[in-house]
Amino acid sequence: MYDKYNRRINYLRISVTDRCNLRCTYCMPESGIQLMDHADIITYEEIVEVVQKSVQMGIDKIRITGGEPLVRKGIVDLVAMISKIQGVKDFGLSTNGITLKKHAKALKQAGLQRVNVSLDTLDPEKYHQITRLGHVEDVLEGIAEAQRAGLNPVKINCVIKKSSQEPDALEVAAYCKKNNLQIRFIHQMELNMGHFSVVEGGDGGDCKICNRLRLTADGKIKPCLFSNLEYNIRELGIEEAINQALNHKPKCGTANTKGSFYNIGG
Ligand code: SAM
Ligand code: SF4
Repeated sequence: MYDKYNRRINYLRISVTDRCNLRCTYCMPESGIQLMDHADIITYEEIVEVVQKSVQMGIDKIRITGGEPLVRKGIVDLVAMISKIQGVKDFGLSTNGITLKKHAKALKQAGLQRVNVSLDTLDPEKYHQITRLGHVEDVLEGIAEAQRAGLNPVKINCVIKKSSQEPDALEVAAYCKKNNLQIRFIHQMELNMGHFSVVEGGDGGDCKICNRLRLTADGKIKPCLFSNLEYNIRELGIEEAINQALNHKPKCGTANTKGSFYNIGG
């Protein structure tokens, strides 16, 4: 399917939860987070219906994200349901890696093709400071297990403040080179200020070639991360919500004053 700026839209990112087992300083406040009501969280059946409909309309690339997708109960079952849908050519999942060691094999067996793992530093103390709760060894073990399980290529998402030449970023880059991992540098962004930029090593953040729609964990199709526009599948029906998101996809993002990475799905 094509939007009105003739961009081919073939990529759907699905946020399966706004919950997370970390509290990264740039993503979530430490406390006082307004979480979605459980009743509003999209069911696996609804997600499968959205994937089926969107594949019929031209989507062939799916990514599961969050929040932290691996904290949602039954996530492996969802992966199995999506991987059976004919027409999904590229099927990945983004995770902080904390529980990846436990899940990698089952995810692969359920039909997941590959994972992106977030890793901003190798320094255990700094990692704990950034994530407020995490231990970097868990992530490194998760990455190794994902490679063993065949979730390749494993890609590393590294958030940088200003430059990919920062000491932490250089260390992560060297670790990736040594361990046969692909790295992408994401500049730290402010959704509500409209501060966003191109992902180094990836396609995100470049409005001219944006091919994405998003499904939020409370069942809304968003045409752009940097906009407040959203179309509720429960109110409009899935096809109409997708069509409206497609037709209203902005030429270029501006700002998002309503959502955050963890509840839209970064
Ligand atoms: N919890 C999973 C994870 O951390 O990979 C998936 C969801 S997370 C919201 C997806 C990506 O968004 C992560 O790579 C994270 O580093 C990135 N992210 C979160 N907040 C960000 C911000 N303010 N600026 C840039 N990237 C951000
Ligand atoms: Fe959780 Fe991912 Fe946000 Fe960190 S970036 S708080 S791991 S959702």
